[in-house]
Amino acid sequence: MPEQTMPERIVIAGASLGGLRAAEQLRSAGWEGELVVIGDEAHPPYNRPPLSKEMLARPGTPEEALAALAFRPRRSATGITWKLGSGVAAANLARRTVTTHDGEVLGFSGLVVATGLRPARVPVPGPLAGRHVVRTLEDTLALHTDLVPGARVAVVGSGFIGCEVAATASGLGCRVTLIEGTSGPMERPLGAELSSGVRRMLNDHGVATLAGTRVIRFLGGQRCTGLVLADGRVLEADVVVEAVGSHANTEWLQGNGLDLDNGVECDEHLRVLDSAGTPVAGVVAVGDIARYPDPLAGGPARRVEHWATPTDTAKIAAPTLVAGLRGEEPGPAASPLPSFWTDLFALRIQGVGSPARADAVGILEGDPARPADGVALGYYREERLIGAVTAGLPAQKHLQYRQAVLDAQASGSRVPEPLPAA
Ligand SMILES: Cc1cc2nc3c(=O)[nH]c(=O)nc-3n(C[C@H](O)[C@H](O)[C@H](O)COP(=O)(O)OP(=O)(O)OC[C@H]3O[C@@H](n4cnc5c(N)ncnc54)[C@H](O)[C@@H]3O)c2cc1C
Repeated sequence: MPEQTMPERIVIAGASLGGLRAAEQLRSAGWEGELVVIGDEAHPPYNRPPLSKEMLARPGTPEEALAALAFRPRRSATGITWKLGSGVAAANLARRTVTTHDGEVLGFSGLVVATGLRPARVPVPGPLAGRHVVRTLEDTLALHTDLVPGARVAVVGSGFIGCEVAATASGLGCRVTLIEGTSGPMERPLGAELSSGVRRMLNDHGVATLAGTRVIRFLGGQRCTGLVLADGRVLEADVVVEAVGSHANTEWLQGNGLDLDNGVECDEHLRVLDSAGTPVAGVVAVGDIARYPDPLAGGPARRVEHWATPTDTAKIAAPTLVAGLRGEEPGPAASPLPSFWTDLFALRIQGVGSPARADAVGILEGDPARPADGVALGYYREERLIGAVTAGLPAQKHLQYRQAVLDAQASGSRVPEPLPAA
């Protein structure tokens, strides 16, 4: 049989921020061959953070919403084939092919995994209709329609998205109850100190919070009319929003000998690893789906579900992939400093590093019980500063604390606390 020639084609699976940034960075890294981005959503890449915030409050028409959210590709992103509306159903990494849900089989020399996450659901009995999640534009448009003034809204889960949705719904005049679950509002990413301040803010704005309980059943026949809590309480609701975490979209990669437990395992170059820990030639991952090492905080590889991650990881993964396809070794490993923000009412909370991995939290300035008045917290693991969060402070202050985390990363030492004023 004649030897099959490998196409000069990189396939990017997933057409959101990660897919877009990967395409841009591949061109910047000198890839001149074919670039095909396959996305299961019908839309070109669009911005998700506003979906739980301003877009949920005032989406306008679907066309207006999409126009407001759509990313403008950078100039480097030329010559890209976008295949939207039908995702990748399967990949055969040994044969270097992907198969779309439409049945099209595409060969590739390089593959970028950028299929992100989908919302988890509360795994208890009850009707689905009337229960919302927030991940896509359609999710937000559907939820907005139900958020009429006076509606009784139950938000299940108090991470970033749950708190943001609760705040937006209360701003629209809904009567909102936030069911916190096993930890307080934003407690897992930000720690208990700031969490109590966030709860207080929610309460001050009229959001009722229920701590230390969980949903055991949804009520209703055709449509959800409320929920039952583990402590026996019954909460009637016109609208239920589930914000209880997410699952990585990895099913299409099954059968290739990869470790797909909670995302796709990668090395520090974002090369996808097989279950023996060996990089799979020509395959990298970017964005929320990538599970990669964290040299600053230490501990096992982790996924980073923040807006900056697709860009940060694409800047590493794209040159790695191009080098690999040229038969070269990847450049030195980089370890991007995670960064994130969340908006609650008029307050912006910003973080850097890995606060969720801290074993101790220190107050650098202000009172975490009153975040709107200005607060900064340092997050430590084994006595090293691994993260910082600020709220209600001038941008300059946030940059100062960010630099302190970078310095601690470079030197491995603990910085004095509190930091000297800027
Ligand atoms: C409501 C909301 C609010 C947020 N707010 C903030 C914020 O305030 N601050 C912050 O830092 N971050 C925020 N984020 C996180 C940020 O938006 C994400 O980190 C970012 O969108 C991740 O991009 P991604 O491309 O890796 O994944 P995704 O955006 O999940 O994109 C993956 C894409 O791949 C598609 N796909 C899935 N399976 C397949 C398949 N088999 N074939 C083809 N395509 C497939 C998906 O449909 C999707 O279009 C928010 C996220 C959400 C949902």
